[in-house]
Amino acid sequence: MPDVFADLVGQDEAVVELRRAAAAAAAVLRAGAAALVTAGRASGDASAADDAQAGAVDPSTGMTHAWIFTGPPGSGRSVAARAFAAALQCAHGTGCGECPGCHTTMGATNADVRMVVPEGLSIGVGEMRALVLRAASTPSGGRWQVVVIEDADRLTEAAGNALLKAIEEPPPRTVFLLCAPSTHPDDISVTIRSRCRVVPLRQPPAAAVAEVLVRRDGIAPDVAQWAAAAAQGHVGRARRLARDPEARKRREAVLAVPRRLTGVGAAFDAASALIEAAEAEAEASVTEADTTERAALETALGAGGTGRGAAGAMRGAAGQLKELEKRQKSRATRAQRDALDRALVDLAGFYRDALTMALRAPVAPVHTDTAALAGAGAQKWDAEGALRRLEAVLACRAAIEANVKPRIAVEAMMLALWKG
Ligand SMILES: [Zn+2]
Repeated sequence: MPDVFADLVGQDEAVVELRRAAAAAAAVLRAGAAALVTAGRASGDASAADDAQAGAVDPSTGMTHAWIFTGPPGSGRSVAARAFAAALQCAHGTGCGECPGCHTTMGATNADVRMVVPEGLSIGVGEMRALVLRAASTPSGGRWQVVVIEDADRLTEAAGNALLKAIEEPPPRTVFLLCAPSTHPDDISVTIRSRCRVVPLRQPPAAAVAEVLVRRDGIAPDVAQWAAAAAQGHVGRARRLARDPEARKRREAVLAVPRRLTGVGAAFDAASALIEAAEAEAEASVTEADTTERAALETALGAGGTGRGAAGAMRGAAGQLKELEKRQKSRATRAQRDALDRALVDLAGFYRDALTMALRAPVAPVHTDTAALAGAGAQKWDAEGALRRLEAVLACRAAIEANVKPRIAVEAMMLALWKG
C-alpha cells in the first residue's frame, strides 16, 4: 500500500522535509497529551503550566503553523498540501495511507481538513473570514485543524489581511497550507510570506511523470512517455492528454497554428479560432455545474411552488440568484483563461523546440509529434527568429495575466508570430 506521498512526483527533497515535520507534529500531540495527564495528577503544582507548554508547536523541531508550497502549475502544489494534511491527521504520524486519518483526508471527507479552491478569479474577504473563524475551533479528531488554500495568489488584499491575522497568532492546533506559483510579492504578500515556511517544488522530470501515469493510472508506457513530454512536467495535464481524446484534439489544433500563419487574414483567423476553442472548452467544463447549482438554489428557494409563500420567497430570491450568477460568471471567465493559457503553453513549447533545434541544443523536444515541423521552422527562422516567436507567446500570456483583453493579446501575438 503506497503512503500518502507516493503521488508527489519527483519531489524527493520536499517529501523528506514534510515527513520530518509530520513526525515533529505527532511528537507535539504526544507531549501535549502527556502534559495534560501530568497536570491532572498534580493539580496545583506550579510545574503543570510548564508541562502544558510541551504541547506547543516549536518551529525548530520541523513543525510550524503556516506553510507555502510553491512551484510551476502541475508540479503538485495541492497534491503536496493534501499529502501533508493527511500525514498530520495520520494515526501513526507518518502518512501511512492506511489509517482512517489518511483515508479521510485523501478522500476529502476529513472534518478537520478544509480545502479552499477558488472558483472565481479571486478569494474574497468574506470567504476568508468565515474560514479563519472555523479554523480556530478545536479539531474534532483530536489532532490538527488544517486549512489548505489552493491558489493563494488569488487572495484579494483584504482576504490576505484576514488570513495574515490568523497566521500571526495561530490557534495552537491550526495549520495553514498555502499553494502559490512563487513567493514573488505579486503572488503572496511579503508579510504572509515572512510568517510561513516555504516548500519549493520543482517541475518534475518527464520520466517521473510517465512512471506515475503507468503505475497509478494504468496507462501504457509509450502513451505515458509521450503525454509526459507533451505536458511539460504538468502531471494532471499529462493524465488528461493520455486519457481524453478531446484534450488531444485541442492540443493538435493549437499545434497546427504555426502552419496556418500565411498572412494577416490567416493570423486573425487563427486568433479567433484559438479564443473560440478556449471558450468552448471552458463552457463544457462549467455548464454542468452551473445548471446543477441553479436548480439546487431554485429548489431551496421554493421556485415552482404556488401560493403566496412561494411568491414571497421568489422576490427575496432574486438577490441570491443574482449573487449566484455573478459567481458563475467569474468562474466561467477563469475557466476560459485557464483553457487559453494551456493552449499558449503548448504553443510556447513548439517555438521552444524550434529554438533548441536552431541552437542544436542536446535536449529532447517537448512535442515529439511536431518535431519535424519545429525543425523546418528552425531552418527558416534561425535561433533569433525562433526566440522572437517564443517571446511573443510568453508576452501574450503575461498580457492576459495583466488583464489585457484576451482577444487583443492573442491577435497581437498571432501577428508577431506571422511577421517573426
Ligand atoms: Zn495514516
